[in-house]
Amino acid sequence: MNPAGSSGSVAIIGGGITGLTAAFRLMQAGVPVTLYEADQRVGGVIRSVQESGYLAEFGPNSILETSPKISGLIRDLGLEPRRGYSDPGAENRYLVRGGKPVCLPASPLRFFGTKLFSTGAKLRLLREPFLRRAPADKEENVAEFVLRRLGREWLDYAINPMIAGIYAGDPRRLSVIHAFPRLHAVEQRYGSLILGQILGARERKRRGEVSKQEAKKISFDQGLQVLTDTLEARLRAAIRLNTTVTALERAPRGWTVSVQSGGSEDAFEHRAVLLAAPAHCLARIALNADAGLTLAPLAEVYYPPVASVVLGFRRADVAHPLDGFGMLVPEVEKFRILGTLFSSSLFPNRAPDGHVTLTTYVGGVRAPDLALRPIEELFNLTLTDLATILGVRGSPTFRHAVLYRQAIPQYEVGYGRFKTLMETIETRASGIFLAGHYRNGISLGDSIIAGHDVADRIAAFARAWPA
Ligand SMILES: Cc1cc2nc3c(=O)[nH]c(=O)nc-3n(C[C@H](O)[C@H](O)[C@H](O)COP(=O)(O)OP(=O)(O)OC[C@H]3O[C@@H](n4cnc5c(N)ncnc54)[C@H](O)[C@@H]3O)c2cc1C
Repeated sequence: MNPAGSSGSVAIIGGGITGLTAAFRLMQAGVPVTLYEADQRVGGVIRSVQESGYLAEFGPNSILETSPKISGLIRDLGLEPRRGYSDPGAENRYLVRGGKPVCLPASPLRFFGTKLFSTGAKLRLLREPFLRRAPADKEENVAEFVLRRLGREWLDYAINPMIAGIYAGDPRRLSVIHAFPRLHAVEQRYGSLILGQILGARERKRRGEVSKQEAKKISFDQGLQVLTDTLEARLRAAIRLNTTVTALERAPRGWTVSVQSGGSEDAFEHRAVLLAAPAHCLARIALNADAGLTLAPLAEVYYPPVASVVLGFRRADVAHPLDGFGMLVPEVEKFRILGTLFSSSLFPNRAPDGHVTLTTYVGGVRAPDLALRPIEELFNLTLTDLATILGVRGSPTFRHAVLYRQAIPQYEVGYGRFKTLMETIETRASGIFLAGHYRNGISLGDSIIAGHDVADRIAAFARAWPA
């Protein structure tokens, strides 16, 4: 028996940001942990690479600082001096309309002057507060919800690209209540999205939270991986790399955790277990508890493939001013890319002097097969679209493409059956906890908050352990 896996400790499965945050918070609370990570490194999808003067993010690019739990983690890790906020000059967001990037209006007043939406679509907004709310128990997809409240143009030119940017998803498949629970709650509570936007802001302020639209975007001097590297350094003795959890079995004082590592198998006993790996990985873990209780249905959670294509260019080879956060591409525009972040406009040190970095996403639910194309094809299709939309010329001075075969979980209509399963497991298999991007929201911020909150729940559970 491994001493770190002794009966007083908590097993954490998965060393992405959720598992690392939970492990750190538990360690602070004096609860011993062992974190099992299947890969040879922790961080999960977070990966920052420095090469040829570029600092590239292959996975996520920034964290939205929506909650004091996020700033608190950065403070407790001593990372405040290394944290950077995105350039205030990079707040513009572009949407592609008619093949060209059009800047989203920054204020309600400017909104009425924008060419992005027709007069009909603008007037449609004025009707929104007077529309009836949907029955509380009706589960709509996002497209139905938006068509009902705002109309076709808003769906095609605002919501469709936004969903590609957040979920790499499709509004016809995502469930409003599961993918955008706040939107659903706002309609139910205020009867109107516009009224809810105004009144909800006051309540968030009281809770010390900020909305995702208003939240500051964070990264670090050497990219997001600074956060997971620092967590790793703090937790080092508790981390088992190259160790895949394969089974969980009830034990007299908790759970026996079976692992595979370097061709050998082993088993350790823990009082509690946190499942912080992706749903499709959890589905492969045998749960030997009550009859009929299984993680297998989680294999049905759809994670589409997404390719992240990071390209560097000479500044002079990009016609667009890149004066913003990035651009999103509506499906009706018939391009192949989902959207592009102007990475070097957002944070400093992303590209050498006189150069820029563009991070483009390809695939998702809209075009899963595109993400799986050979790498040269991915570069070519990205370059072709960027040439038309942003006026990119010449060859890239830096290029990398990374494929996430199962990238982001889609909270589709019917996702409630997975949430019910998770609740059932927590209730019937006492000591098993579930948290992460497959349950608590898909963003990095959501994952940090989830890691924090589940650590509180586990710490409370640990206080009840007999000595
Ligand atoms: C391409 C891309 C871009 C994104 N961009 C952004 C962004 O800019 N901003 C944002 O807020 N969010 C973004 N996201 C979402 C965000 O990055 C993720 O939701 C978040 O990082 C998930 O963290 P996690 O710890 O829950 O899971 P993961 O990062 O997936 O970590 C899970 C870990 O579990 C391990 N594991 C799996 N099975 C086992 C097992 N059996 N035993 C042990 N270990 C196991 C895996 O190896 C992995 O390390 C992006 C996601 C992707 C894919």
